[in-house]
Amino acid sequence: MQERHPPFLWREPEPRAAYEAIVVGGGGHGLATAYYLAKRHGMTDVAVLERGWLGGGNMGRNTTIIRSNYLWDESAAIYEHSLCLWEGLEEELDYDILLSQRGVLNLAHNLSDVREGVRRVNANRLNGVDAEWLDAAGVKEVCPIIDTSAEARYPVLGGTYQPRGGIAKHDHVAWGYARAADALGVDIIQGCEVTDVLVEDGAVTGVETSRGRIRAPRVALAAAGHSSVLAAVAGIALPVQSHPLQALVSELLEQVLPCVVMSNAVHVYVSQAHKGELVMGAGIDAYNGYGQRGAVHVIEHQMAAALELFPIFSRAHVLRTWAGIVDVTPDASPIVGLTPVDGLFVNCGWGTGGFKGTPGSGWVYAHTIANGEPHPLNAAFSLERFETGALIDEHGAAAVAH
Ligand SMILES: Cc1cc2nc3c(=O)[nH]c(=O)nc-3n(C[C@H](O)[C@H](O)[C@H](O)COP(=O)(O)OP(=O)(O)OC[C@H]3O[C@@H](n4cnc5c(N)ncnc54)[C@H](O)[C@@H]3O)c2cc1C
Repeated sequence: MQERHPPFLWREPEPRAAYEAIVVGGGGHGLATAYYLAKRHGMTDVAVLERGWLGGGNMGRNTTIIRSNYLWDESAAIYEHSLCLWEGLEEELDYDILLSQRGVLNLAHNLSDVREGVRRVNANRLNGVDAEWLDAAGVKEVCPIIDTSAEARYPVLGGTYQPRGGIAKHDHVAWGYARAADALGVDIIQGCEVTDVLVEDGAVTGVETSRGRIRAPRVALAAAGHSSVLAAVAGIALPVQSHPLQALVSELLEQVLPCVVMSNAVHVYVSQAHKGELVMGAGIDAYNGYGQRGAVHVIEHQMAAALELFPIFSRAHVLRTWAGIVDVTPDASPIVGLTPVDGLFVNCGWGTGGFKGTPGSGWVYAHTIANGEPHPLNAAFSLERFETGALIDEHGAAAVAH
């Protein structure tokens, strides 16, 4: 049992010359991976190398929506596994992550939305995912402040509802995993940029970093928006495009929004944080980019969309906006598995929706790294699927709605 109030959350060790495994990227996925490597596979000679500060990437910038109601069997399996891990995570990490399973509503505004939604609810139920179809009156009951009147520009015809979906406090999740991994012996090294991946005779031997060369027979990339850049230095072309993705918060308001609401057609997703800010996400900025900022017109469009649904928000003020760099694949599904280089592993492509996948991703990635082969839950999410054509098209379930 860890102390309730330790003097630090994790140590600040100097990088050693060699490790059994290196995880590149101190976001949620990298930290969860390191934790499960140590906890479940007994691999504690592990370093997490983070070029900036821990959680300064997408992990600390997302809108924290958690759900598992994806369409295809492979996706439902991995995201539902993740949701089950979320449900036990506070206890597992002995850290308050403020998980709030307040329900996630995904609105339908036209016949095509309705068909896609009903199909997904049916698919979810077959996969044991809690999913319901609500008509417009049911939507109003779950979320009274949505404008469901006939005058609405995009009338609400109904929606999918996942009661176990919700939000969690993203920075707490990063800190919780970091503290627990550190306590098991993992070195978390901030301010350490990986600049090259060392490969000899087709096998990885380590990395070059801004703080010197570090050897390791296993190197696991978990660099989200920088994945394709890093893989390229090892000679691997990932089918990943990096885009800015923006979000914003309002000032603190009384609690008015009881659940998470998303709308692909109107193009907004919104929840209300524990403290009271309205947290809203936008669609991606269309161009490729590596800056953690985006264009103003995207935010303007996003706020206009929010007001379509929630006229009550018209008097709220925007407090701040920001962006992360999301790694988007052609089928809107992640890549977690082996690469053509022995000992080099890749975990990327979670795009606009990988926060919810954090525990599940770390779990299966750690298995893959420890055993040198994928876990059954991530076998289908291989890099080869872009050659074989066995894509897992989640554009409907992913879309703007994270
Ligand atoms: C605005 C926004 C809203 C989002 N909303 C949601 C949501 O509601 N629900 C949801 O499920 N998902 C959401 N996401 C997506 C989610 O945040 C990401 O899919 C997920 O965080 C990616 O995994 P990560 O946490 O490991 O990434 P990151 O936190 O980005 O971690 C990657 C780390 O790698 C580091 N790195 C990069 N290159 C190097 C290098 N060369 N050397 C060392 N370190 C390196 C980076 O500095 C970074 O810290 C959102 C994303 C954004 C930007």
